[in-house]
Amino acid sequence: MTEKTVFKRIIDREIPAKIVYEDELCMAFEDIKPAAPTHLIVIPKKEIPSANQVSPADEAIVGHLFVAMRKIAEQLGLGGGYRVVTNCGPDAGQEVMHLHFHMLAGRKFSWPPG
Ligand code: AMP
Repeated sequence: MTEKTVFKRIIDREIPAKIVYEDELCMAFEDIKPAAPTHLIVIPKKEIPSANQVSPADEAIVGHLFVAMRKIAEQLGLGGGYRVVTNCGPDAGQEVMHLHFHMLAGRKFSWPPG
């Protein structure tokens, strides 16, 4: 059996996290190494390793994550905007193999990203 990812362990309440949003399909918690004043990790509870493994059966879940992010932005008062990022695979620097969106806010972001 493969080892649980750190995000699966957060879902299973085996390790602590500062959870800011949770419902039946997803959760959002503060990134342990924030890259912006607001830096959340938004994940599906379903174990999907990365954007590259999203299947047609996951369409509703991925849509649900974006609706959740809109709710979180409203809840946290992120009216000035925010950036949503997903790193997919080694060249993008993905460290945790559980699909997640970084939700970053509270400062200006440059483009293109590094
Ligand atoms: P990625 O490179 O897209 O896979 O990013 C993984 C993110 O998860 C990084 O920004 C880490 O700081 C964050 N992270 C890793 N472990 C934890 C944890 N236990 N709680 C919160 N965030 C974490």
